[in-house]
Amino acid sequence: ALAEVPLQITSLSKRYGKSGDRYAVRDLSFRVERGQVLGLLGPNGAGKTTTLRMLMGLITPDGGEIRVFGHAIRPGAPVLSRVGAFVEGAGFLPHLSGRANLDLYWQATGRPAEDAHIDEALEIAGLGDALQRAVRTYSQGMRQRLAIAQAMLGMPDLLILDEPTNGLDPPQIREMRDVMIRYAAGGRTVIVSSHLLSEVEQSCTDLVVMDRGRLVQAGPVAEIIGSGDTLLVTVAGD
Ligand code: ATP
Repeated sequence: ALAEVPLQITSLSKRYGKSGDRYAVRDLSFRVERGQVLGLLGPNGAGKTTTLRMLMGLITPDGGEIRVFGHAIRPGAPVLSRVGAFVEGAGFLPHLSGRANLDLYWQATGRPAEDAHIDEALEIAGLGDALQRAVRTYSQGMRQRLAIAQAMLGMPDLLILDEPTNGLDPPQIREMRDVMIRYAAGGRTVIVSSHLLSEVEQSCTDLVVMDRGRLVQAGPVAEIIGSGDTLLVTVAGD
């Protein structure tokens, strides 16, 4: 059913500047199907963060429509429990364990404890044996994966990750890739932004490539990589 399409964006725009003449996002349309890991790719300033923040209901579009599982997204409206989001800079209490931090976070949502699936989230995040250790002993990659685990609490059907590989080294980037693949297994949907194709090409099934606010390419990863154009876009931005 159409209502079950995880994400459908139609002619989405966001403008900035005194007279609203600068577009951060311009006439953006795409659709994400169930089970896809969609990479939102583009150089710095392409409009990725602006797009994801509109999806999360954090900023208001100037035009267009966003539907998540058929529901129109509007800022101020309650966030669907079927959506989880990671944005940079989640804070944790360093002397508490990863598990205790997630427990506290979930309690603050007011949702039933049995809906959290904390152990499953930590397992998917590759933190199974670290969950009892204090967060201050975690590497940066582990902290980042704990933040992803936090976004996974409740096992949302759609997980939105804004640049989760930012600041990570290659082994940590590979671990993050495996986290996304594990999460999407079983029909869950992931949207992940990155400015480097090499960071997402092995975890994503599909790509939307943006440049200067506009969609420049969209489709299955293999098709886009085969075309060669993406490489120019992403290299130009780095
Ligand atoms: P990055 O990888 O650097 O985060 P991005 O693809 O996420 O880049 P955005 O952060 O969405 O890009 O920014 C898109 C454009 O919109 C940029 O030119 C940016 O300067 C502009 N922009 C974003 N937010 C604002 C704002 N609050 N005020 C003015 N301009 C903004």
